Amino acid sequence: MKPRVAFFDFASCEGCQLQVINLEEKILDLIDVVEVVSFREAMKESSDDYDIAFVEGSIMRPMDEERLKRIRKNARILVALGACACIGGVNRLRNEWSVDEVKKEVYDEADIEGNRLFDVFPTKAVDEVVDVDFRIPGCPINREEFAKVVAHLAIGKEPRLPSYPVCVECKKNENICVFELGKFCLGPVTRAGCNAICPTHGDGCEGCRGYLDDPRMEAAKDVLRKYGVSFDEMMKRFNMFNYRKGAI
Ligand code: SF4
Ligand code: SF4
Ligand code: SF4
Repeated sequence: MKPRVAFFDFASCEGCQLQVINLEEKILDLIDVVEVVSFREAMKESSDDYDIAFVEGSIMRPMDEERLKRIRKNARILVALGACACIGGVNRLRNEWSVDEVKKEVYDEADIEGNRLFDVFPTKAVDEVVDVDFRIPGCPINREEFAKVVAHLAIGKEPRLPSYPVCVECKKNENICVFELGKFCLGPVTRAGCNAICPTHGDGCEGCRGYLDDPRMEAAKDVLRKYGVSFDEMMKRFNMFNYRKGAI
C-alpha cells in the first residue's frame, strides 16, 4: 500500500507548498509512490488518516501548538518543510523584540486597548513543540530535493541532506566568488542542496538552509578576514534565517 501523505501550514507564505505544486509533471512520479490525502493548496479533499505529515510554517500561537500536537499524534513520520518550519525562518526575526513591543508595532492603539489582538508567543520552529523525523530546509525548499525525500520515505529509506557547505556547489558551478565582487555571502557555513542558486545568480547566500551540522567557523572567519568583514557582521546577517540564541 502506498504511504498516505498530508500537507499542513502554519505561519508562512506557503511558498514551500507552492514549490511542490511547481514540480508540475514530476508530481505524477510522486503520485506513483504516495497517496496525497490532504493538500489545501492543491485539492479540496482532506483526511486525518495519513502516514507522513509535511508541516510548513513556524509556530506562533497556543492554538498552533495544539493543532501541531494533533498532527504529530496522527503521523508516523513528520517532516518539517522549509526554513519557517525547520528553524523559525524570517518569522523568527521578531524574537529580537518582546511580544509586547511587536504588538505595539503591528496593532494600532484601538486594537490594543480593545484587546483585539492575536494571542501570540515568540516564534518557534516545529521541533520546539513536537519531535521531527526529518527536515527539508530552504526558503523556499528545493523542489528536486523534496521529490527525492518523498521517494526515499516511500520506500522506507532515511533521506540524507548534504553535509557540506554551499561553497562546494558554488565552486562546481564555476562561479566567481561574490566576495570578489564586494558582496557578502554565508555560503561557507550554510548547508548545501540548493545548487548555490543565489551566488550562481550573483547574490550572496543568506543562509536560508541553516547552518551545517558542524560549521567550520574558523575557516569562515579566515574568509571574512581576507575580505575585511567582521565576525559580528556575519552573525548579524545570519539573523535573517537563523536567529536562535545559542545555536552557534
Ligand atoms: S520557508 Fe520561505 S518560502 Fe517557505 S513558507 Fe517560509 S517564508 Fe515561505
Ligand atoms: S563564499 Fe559564497 S560566493 Fe564565495 S564560493 Fe562560497 S558560496 Fe560561492
Ligand atoms: S544560496 Fe543560500 S540563501 Fe540561496 S537558496 Fe541556497 S542556502 Fe538559501
